[in-house]
Amino acid sequence: MTNSIFTIPKPYNEPVKSYAPGSSERSALSAELGRQMATRVEIPVIVNGEEIKTGDVRNVVCPHDHGHVLGKVHMAGEKEIKSAVDAALSAKAAWEAMEWQERAAVFLKAADLISRKYSATLNAATMLGQSKNAFQAEIDATCELVDFWRFNVSYMEEIYANQPSSEKGVYNRLEYRPLEGFVFALTPFNFTCIAGNLPTTPAMMGNTIVWKPSTTAVLSNYYVMRILKEAGLPSGVINFIPGSGSQVADILFTHKDFAGMHFTGSTAVFQNLWKKAAENIETYVSYPRIVGETGGKDYIFAHASADVEELVTGIIRGAFEFQGQKCSACSRLYVPASLWPAVQEKLKEKIAEIKVGPVTDFTNFVNAVIDEKSFDSIDGYISRAQASSDADVIIGGQRNKSKGYFVYPTVIQAKTPDYESMAQEIFGPVLTVYVYEDKDLDATLDILDNTSPYALTGSVFARDRGAVNALTARLTHTAGNFYINDKPTGAVVGQQPFGGARKSGTNDKAGSYLNLIRWASPRAIKETFVPPQKFGYPFMG
Ligand code: NAD
Repeated sequence: MTNSIFTIPKPYNEPVKSYAPGSSERSALSAELGRQMATRVEIPVIVNGEEIKTGDVRNVVCPHDHGHVLGKVHMAGEKEIKSAVDAALSAKAAWEAMEWQERAAVFLKAADLISRKYSATLNAATMLGQSKNAFQAEIDATCELVDFWRFNVSYMEEIYANQPSSEKGVYNRLEYRPLEGFVFALTPFNFTCIAGNLPTTPAMMGNTIVWKPSTTAVLSNYYVMRILKEAGLPSGVINFIPGSGSQVADILFTHKDFAGMHFTGSTAVFQNLWKKAAENIETYVSYPRIVGETGGKDYIFAHASADVEELVTGIIRGAFEFQGQKCSACSRLYVPASLWPAVQEKLKEKIAEIKVGPVTDFTNFVNAVIDEKSFDSIDGYISRAQASSDADVIIGGQRNKSKGYFVYPTVIQAKTPDYESMAQEIFGPVLTVYVYEDKDLDATLDILDNTSPYALTGSVFARDRGAVNALTARLTHTAGNFYINDKPTGAVVGQQPFGGARKSGTNDKAGSYLNLIRWASPRAIKETFVPPQKFGYPFMG
């Protein structure tokens, strides 16, 4: 019983560790990398807190050394998927009844467990399992996940405090009930923090969850589950079921208590899932909340007044960090002809300095792409550009999958602005540039707006303030996260709420109250202190 109004600790962004030579975090991380490389983890299905080994296993390997097995994952079958739903529904009443400050404490503790105890564990698992370098793992698995948990509980507090006014004689209240039923969290491979965020945001708001992690991120995701358990998350609140996404979806979407889906992944998969849910709409107790953040074809648009040095740094970091496998990665570039010779020369010079290789060698800026399917798809785009009369591969183009799935930073120059690699999401370290005549600025902005179906992130580089203003206004609907003289990646929780529109998703802004509010179904309560005793009104006199 509480009879006080508690205050959530003020959230702050987790400081980013540098991993510079000689630093204590570097030696702790190196030791942990060694430990995890020498270990084989057995990853179970977890239903109602119970670890289940189904025996239907897949190897978990390093993308940069696919012969190296890090462990094996047990895949959920129909029985485990159905019991995960039952477990989520059984855990619901007690979790929903738990006071919100107590729920908050679980996630605040989990954040501190990562910050103070498990940063090296989670970063190493993300490096080895998803092929991120030390810095990319740090900003993802440690900083952004900790930020999600610290800021989200604070947004939860703000939401609950938001109450209606009451006239004299009346007491109005708004109760933020969780959804009726269970929430399905379906997560992508590319960010450990997204995998951790999607099941926990609805859970924070009192919902219980069936979580299907990505098979290619399952090692780090399993550690997230263990950390949540250590933080005191009750059994059954989040049920962890590695397995086939379509099998899980087929079973969950025919259950009457399916209450919502929190998805991040590709546009095609999202659209397919939405259709499947819609086909069963009569089955459900409530209209499900569908939240999905999906693909992107993110751009940098350079104005003739841009600073070349700043522009090229933004391009390289935006396009090639984590091998271009960020939904926000810059994959199309528009440069005016007046600037192109200088930009091209600098790009060639800087890209030649980039080292590609395994994550265990900290001098590598680019590591491997996630798996063979992804490698082959990227390989197809490069091969077609090499053969096309509409495009030239002007930088890079090398790729090799014999030991790891390595694709070198590649720049394609498109001769037509709608060439396939200017329009489609590639999800690899491949940037396509279109050089426009300076006099065709306005027409090129129209082209940018209409070339791709996505609207996730975009940047403009310009020193001329008038140009900055004009570009910002003209490009209003082309990106949910828009940057001025900065790369289009690297949104920080609490600073730049993240999400895009058009075919990039429902734009429910991860890392903001806008997302949390989707997981509540408010009940308005009006109490009249002295109710009237006659039905008639004065006008009837
Ligand atoms: P994906 O769509 O292949 O997979 C996402 C999840 O869905 C995985 O768990 C996967 O197993 C599952 N899945 C795959 N096919 C399925 C099917 N037919 N039915 C049900 N489930 C299925 O995406 P990915 O390769 O893991 O991630 C990359 C994609 O995610 C890119 O398109 C990227 O732009 C997008 N992404 C978007 C954001 C954002 O905030 N907008 C953030 C990260 C990633």
